[in-house]
Amino acid sequence: MIRSETHREGLIFVISGPSGAGKTTLIHSILLKWPELRFSVSCTTRSPRGDEAQGKDYHFISTEEFQEGIRRGRFLEWAKVHGAYYGTDGKRVSEWLLEGFDVLLDIDVQGARQVVCHYPLARTVFVMPPSLEELEQRLRERDSDAPEKVALRLRAALDEIREAPWYEFLIVNDTREEAIADLEGIIRACRCHRLRRAHWVGSLLERARA
Ligand code: 5GP
Repeated sequence: MIRSETHREGLIFVISGPSGAGKTTLIHSILLKWPELRFSVSCTTRSPRGDEAQGKDYHFISTEEFQEGIRRGRFLEWAKVHGAYYGTDGKRVSEWLLEGFDVLLDIDVQGARQVVCHYPLARTVFVMPPSLEELEQRLRERDSDAPEKVALRLRAALDEIREAPWYEFLIVNDTREEAIADLEGIIRACRCHRLRRAHWVGSLLERARA
């Protein structure tokens, strides 16, 4: 691709948080509001839950296919979470960024660290549940998860929350509307950062000189 002087690459927004913190709803809401954002559908070796659809919620693939993907460098990042593999397709993400699209990734802490190594300008957002009691309640309401899985996810949630201070932005998902407004605010602010806008200034001054 030939990149003009005014080309600007998109930004990655990494969204993490324990299962049940409400990341998925938050991401769906923001994608409805801002259709120009791109969401990277992850690959996973876990089985679909509830009405999850192939290619929409996840690309559900076999462990063999996933491991082959690791060997071939298919993933921008990957991690084992709750005993299953999860990973982000690197080619898709880099194409979107080059085309100027901002990309949302819903990934765990291990993946977030890997993404920041590859893309130091990636912005990181952690979504917190309002309380542990609320988190437990939300996990129990997912009737497709067996009780022992809920316990596993609760323990994992605490491990994730310990990592929250590493993230640049924290959203407490108490009321949905406020959480959506917070995420919108973060994305807007990052888009206005001088690193993102430098090319506007440059091209304006360039025209003034002409
Ligand atoms: P769930 O099975 O509840 O959909 O997701 C479990 C965890 O895996 C969540 O914390 C989610 O953010 C994380 N996850 C989903 N996709 C990816 C991915 O591609 N990479 C990594 N590292 N984590 C992921």
